[in-house]
Amino acid sequence: MKRGTLIILSGPSGVGKGTVREQLFKMNDLNLAYSISMTTRKPRPGEVNGVDYYFVDQATFNQKIQEDGFLEYAQFVSNSYGTPKDKVEEMLEEGKNVVLEIEVQGALQVMEKVPEALTIFLVPPSMEELERRIRGRKTEAESVMQERLAKAEREIKTKDSYKHVVVNNTVEQAANEIADIIRHNIN
Ligand code: 5GP
Repeated sequence: MKRGTLIILSGPSGVGKGTVREQLFKMNDLNLAYSISMTTRKPRPGEVNGVDYYFVDQATFNQKIQEDGFLEYAQFVSNSYGTPKDKVEEMLEEGKNVVLEIEVQGALQVMEKVPEALTIFLVPPSMEELERRIRGRKTEAESVMQERLAKAEREIKTKDSYKHVVVNNTVEQAANEIADIIRHNIN
């Protein structure tokens, strides 16, 4: 069976990666599989362990680092996030196109290890719009929000490291553009 393609979907916090990803997963011809990350962040309301993330404590996360169990991992605001590598490998072997929805430090690590990965960076239409979206989430304290906004500005500066940059004007438009990029690269 033909090995699947590794797809990195990155972009600043709050740009809408999760929503665009959900839209992409409705397109069955893309043959996508999602890599569920491990994180030390506490679940938000509605988030399910083993679906949205594997929610673990710092000791468990550190243990996984010791075992060399991550394809990449990074600290984001005050939590750790990482991609368990065995599962990704298994899904690629099964011919699935595996989506990593990750922040920029992790994305840069994967680019080094897997240069053939299809890398896509989602940007907001403007910084004002990004701020509106981050504030709209209302699940974080003001200080955390300020930190995420400052971080987003730094993250956007890394966009030229990606093979494709897509503007998230609307979920449909961004998902359709990304789907076309994927279709051009998987066959
Ligand atoms: P959130 O706390 O909003 O779910 O995620 C914070 C940031 O971490 C987002 O940009 C998200 O894409 C990113 N992220 C989620 N999982 C991983 C991962 O496994 N590795 C890395 N490097 N970033 C991740």
